Amino acid sequence: MKKIILNQAQKDLLQEHAAKYSSNESCAMLLGIHNGEEWNVKEIFLTRNSSENSEVTFGIAPEELLQGYKLADEKNLELVAIFHSHPNSNALPSNTDKKFMKLNGDIPWIIFSGINIDFKAYVLDEEIEEIPIKIMERHFFNN
Ligand SMILES: [Zn+2]
Repeated sequence: MKKIILNQAQKDLLQEHAAKYSSNESCAMLLGIHNGEEWNVKEIFLTRNSSENSEVTFGIAPEELLQGYKLADEKNLELVAIFHSHPNSNALPSNTDKKFMKLNGDIPWIIFSGINIDFKAYVLDEEIEEIPIKIMERHFFNN
């Protein structure tokens, strides 16, 4: 079954990043290992939201994308998910999100809702489907 694997510290980091941006959408590149139907997050690269309409949409500047890919390369990881937050709505992909998910191919997206304090993950297969997020316990940490 398809799933995305995060640990508690990574989840906390994303939630803090979203809280720091408060009324604007926050975003991050999640680096890790993609193996069949599992996307295992190992490293989080926090990014700035470069969108002019950052309350309702997000963008990652090309320089930051490049930095993120470079970090992945150095650590022998790949981009396994794109994270962004919805400060004032549910963790459901907006129409703009759906459009960009289609352009990004099979990379899962994780959306955090600031109103429900809830994380959800989606991947595009034929259609956009929700996939479970598995949170690893702290004692499974592996640096
Ligand atoms: Zn969105």
